[in-house]
Amino acid sequence: MSHFDLHCHTSCSDGKLTPLELIALAKENNITDLAITDHDTVAAHRILKNEVDLGLNLITGIELSCQWSKIGIHIVGLNIDIDSPAILTAEAQLNKVRQQRLERIAYKLEKRGFDGILAGAQAEAGDNQVGRPHIARFMVKAGMVRSVSAAFDKYLGAGKVGDVSSLWPALEQVVEWINAAGGVAVVAHPGRYNMTRSKRIRMIEAFQQAGGQALEVCTGNQPHGMSEDLANICEKYELMASVGSDFHSPSYPWVKLGRYPRLPKRCKPVWDVFARP
Ligand code: AMP
Ligand code: MN
Ligand code: MN
Ligand code: MN
Repeated sequence: MSHFDLHCHTSCSDGKLTPLELIALAKENNITDLAITDHDTVAAHRILKNEVDLGLNLITGIELSCQWSKIGIHIVGLNIDIDSPAILTAEAQLNKVRQQRLERIAYKLEKRGFDGILAGAQAEAGDNQVGRPHIARFMVKAGMVRSVSAAFDKYLGAGKVGDVSSLWPALEQVVEWINAAGGVAVVAHPGRYNMTRSKRIRMIEAFQQAGGQALEVCTGNQPHGMSEDLANICEKYELMASVGSDFHSPSYPWVKLGRYPRLPKRCKPVWDVFARP
């Protein structure tokens, strides 16, 4: 039987496992079809391309950062051509945005009395795509906060001083990149944004208008009833459904690779459009 996980992260962005460690865990968890979807980079897929036999069906993917109505939104691109000009452009542009955003967040946090954020977060990320989790990890190590989640609660999370969404490209732009790369665009964890249900529906309408094709109906750590609600929205807007844990690290036991609520039967699964080898 097939077991899909179409949303997870490696150390190429803010995940803890290397691409090969993630593949090993996926097989341990009996996943047959895995999409690695790092934030704004396909580096993991470039690394794994040279492996002869992974022992599972690896689907290319990316989780692109964008903004809609001044709110940061994540769009997953699945089954994309990682060598396409659109993906190369997206990576280059978003890499630049992430650098600029880090500088801006560091500046704002410096005004609050926290020094060394820029260099510290950069060192945490190394050559990988830098994000707020790297800032949070540095702040913990430097004794500025007790934990990563405290760093998000106080300084980095939605609506806090370090939540700088204004630099991201528009929702329409990232959907266009995914489509130009031959992929399927999916709204990641639609229930997790800081917005009312009616605003969420307006965001989904804009996404569909821009050429987006699917919603992530099932994600790890999702409130009860959310997948049924999202399945209804999929039916209304003729969108397909995707599933994925959004796994980042084995040290967050509340999100396990391959684990998410059951997909409602009436949904049209996004993998129907993927060619299986
Ligand atoms: P960024 O990609 O830099 O905007 O950072 C967003 C990432 O931070 C998400 O993909 C999560 O991995 C992580 N994150 C978001 N909120 C929290 C939180 N409250 N606690 C820990 N990690 C979080
Ligand atoms: Mn993340
Ligand atoms: Mn996300
Ligand atoms: Mn994610």
